[in-house]
Amino acid sequence: MKKKESCIFCRIARGEIPCYKVYEDNFVIAFLDVNPASRGHTLVVPKEHCSDFTTCPKDLLDHCFEVAQAIAQAQIAQLGATGVNVLTNVGASAGQSVLHFHIHVIPSYREPILGLKGTNLQIEDKEMLLLQDEIKKAI
Ligand code: 5GP
Ligand code: ZN
Repeated sequence: MKKKESCIFCRIARGEIPCYKVYEDNFVIAFLDVNPASRGHTLVVPKEHCSDFTTCPKDLLDHCFEVAQAIAQAQIAQLGATGVNVLTNVGASAGQSVLHFHIHVIPSYREPILGLKGTNLQIEDKEMLLLQDEIKKAI
């Protein structure tokens, strides 16, 4: 079976699997996460299949983030969220379980839901400079 036929988010976008849809246009669908981190946790998903943030065509990526912004604003205005986490996982080692690009828009209510916990990772100046250089030269 081809990837697009079996992909769970392609199937939701085609209407083959039900969801709590909050927004849809020709390019994007947004719906509540079935296993939410908080009340109103929403996923923004391009209708066209692409594996993750790094492979999504730029115009579509821009549009997905526009929709994510509108959803975050709605969560604050309508749900009473006091904050929002916007994130997208790339690859299994980053926690991506559905290999169809999506943006999590996760409202928080007074308490942090997520956050980058300090790891106490110590990196020496020399290595920080190398890291800076490796990233800079590949952009
Ligand atoms: P990831 O781990 O790939 O960043 O996020 C995938 C998200 O999709 C998870 O939070 C998971 O709960 C959600 N999810 C997986 N399958 C379904 C589904 O069939 N329907 C909905 N609404 N959400 C799903
Ligand atoms: Zn897909």
